[in-house]
Amino acid sequence: MSLAAIQSRLTAACAAHGRTPESVQLIAVSKVQPLDRVVGVLDQGHRLFGENYVQEAQAKWPDLRARFGAVQVHMIGPLQTNKAKLAVDLFDAIHTVDRPSLAEKLAKLAQTRGSSPQLFIQVNTGAEPQKAGILPNDTDAFITQCRAMDLAVQGLMCIPPEGTDPAPHFAMLADMAARNGLSGLSMGMSSDFEVAIAHGATHIRVGSAIFGARDYG
Ligand SMILES: *Cc1c(COP(=O)(O)O)cnc(C)c1O
Repeated sequence: MSLAAIQSRLTAACAAHGRTPESVQLIAVSKVQPLDRVVGVLDQGHRLFGENYVQEAQAKWPDLRARFGAVQVHMIGPLQTNKAKLAVDLFDAIHTVDRPSLAEKLAKLAQTRGSSPQLFIQVNTGAEPQKAGILPNDTDAFITQCRAMDLAVQGLMCIPPEGTDPAPHFAMLADMAARNGLSGLSMGMSSDFEVAIAHGATHIRVGSAIFGARDYG
C-alpha cells in the first residue's frame, strides 16, 4: 500500500456512501516508523499525522515542522496527566481524553492558555477491561461533565476489540455522538477504515497501510 492507494480507497468509500472526500480527514499514523518513511509521505504533500507517544512526537515533529511548514499532529495514544502540558503545546488534537482527571487537567490548561487542541473522548465501546476509555454507559455523563468544565469536545474516538466485527462499535459511537450533538468521529484504522467511513467517520487513523509494518525492535 501507499499514501496514494489509501487516498483512492478513501475517495471510493466516500463515493459509495454519498460523502465527499473532504468530509474525512486521513491521519497518517507515523508512530515508530523510520524517519525516511515519514519524510517520504511529507514529500508527497501529506500534512496530517498521528502519534502515540509524547516523547517520540517531541523528538520528531518540531524539526519536521521547521522543514515542511504547517503540519498537523494528532495525539492518538494514552496520555499521562503529567504530560498533558507538553501535549497541548505539541499537538493540534488529542483523541484520547479517557478519564475525569485528564479532562480536569486539560480544562485548566485551556483556561490558562486561552486555547486548546481539538479534543476527542475515547470510548471503550467493547467494555474491555484492559483497554482505556470511558465505558459506553458512562459516556453521556462524562460529556456533560466535560462541558461543565468548559472543555470544548469535538467528538468521540474508539478502537474496537481485535478480532471482532468493528461495524457495531462504529455504529454505537456514531449514535452516542449524534445524541450528544458531537460532530467528530475518530474511528477506523488500516484494516477497517472503509467500514468506519460507511458509519460516518470524520477522522480515520491509518498507519501500517500507508507506511508499512511497524518494527518495534
Ligand atoms: C497505531 C494506531 C493506529 C494505526 O494502526 P494501523 O493498524 O497501523 O493502521 C490507529 N489508532 C490508534 C489508536 C493506534 O494506536
